[in-house]
Amino acid sequence: MSQKVALICGMTGQDGSYLAQFLLSKGYRVWGTSRDATNSNNTNLIRLNIVNKTKLVTMDPLDFRSVLTTINHVEPDEIYYLAGQSSVGLSFELPSETIQSIVLGTLNILEACRMSAKPVRLYQAGSSECYGDVGKNIADESFPFKPSSPYAVAKASAYWLVDNYRKSYGLYACTGILFNHESPLRPKRFVTQKIIESARAISEGKIDRLTLGRIDINRDWGWAPEYIEAMWLMLQQNEPDDFIVATGHSHSLEEFISIAFQSFGLEWQNHIVQSNEFYRPSDIIFSQANPNKINNKLGWRAKVMLPQIIEKMIEKQYW
Ligand code: NDP
Repeated sequence: MSQKVALICGMTGQDGSYLAQFLLSKGYRVWGTSRDATNSNNTNLIRLNIVNKTKLVTMDPLDFRSVLTTINHVEPDEIYYLAGQSSVGLSFELPSETIQSIVLGTLNILEACRMSAKPVRLYQAGSSECYGDVGKNIADESFPFKPSSPYAVAKASAYWLVDNYRKSYGLYACTGILFNHESPLRPKRFVTQKIIESARAISEGKIDRLTLGRIDINRDWGWAPEYIEAMWLMLQQNEPDDFIVATGHSHSLEEFISIAFQSFGLEWQNHIVQSNEFYRPSDIIFSQANPNKINNKLGWRAKVMLPQIIEKMIEKQYW
């Protein structure tokens, strides 16, 4: 069998780097994109020791010419669209960039897939944020979307674009509706990494306190390297479909803080300060997932749960 070729859009990010490593281990030839491959931040690829095993090319998802040229040049069997502005908080500051990179980026990829002479399968990085606050409910794939940030609105639009292109043009295209997933590759702008690095700095006497916004929010946190396999599995089926990817267990941010600070021998109450300054214009309090569909249909199940995730982030265990 000839070697499969994958194109990972947004390969320098957390998921892109893990996915590249995973696909290399499966024998794929791996190409990745960055908006500027010459000046890209390759830290994650270096940490995973795969920078020389992959090919990074410049592609701007907003520039259709660059998308089409890249796909025609690489001739991938599988495309993973992971690029775009990925922070919910930042999407309130950069709504236009967020909407464009996620919605127009997905649209350009879908159009280029339609024009590709070679049949290509597409994975699109959806998000649990599309559901908004689920209250006392548990979201499954049929739960209605109620997005409450520019990021979530963008992800909901991208989801419907994929659904529409699949039904209208018969494309093999899937959305993974991923709940939060963490690793030591998470940038510090994300609250989980911020908590761990601040607890470390407090334990070393470098700082005394950490200021946060709401800590009563609940999220389903999983281990990023495991979620990569779920993305790949979605593209190996007979028929394309969308799947929630989650552990099925939600925890409050306060629990996250408590476990992380305890690991450093600290009482979190002595060091956490809450400030309105860090409140988002709107936030999701309850987020809870039912991953039965992916458990049963693809045989995928999350194994690493929150205490272990925190431990691995503290120890900087990449996998
Ligand atoms: P990252 O932010 O780590 O990586 C995204 C990559 O996209 C970056 O490396 C960057 O590459 C590129 N990018 C950033 N901004 C833009 C932009 N404005 N236009 C085009 N490209 C841009 O994200 P993750 O790896 O954590 O997530 C991957 C995907 O999965 C994202 O789409 C994210 O929204 C989604 N997702 C992530 C979840 C999580 O918990 N991690 C949960 C649910 C969904 P470069 O600068 O090299 O171009």
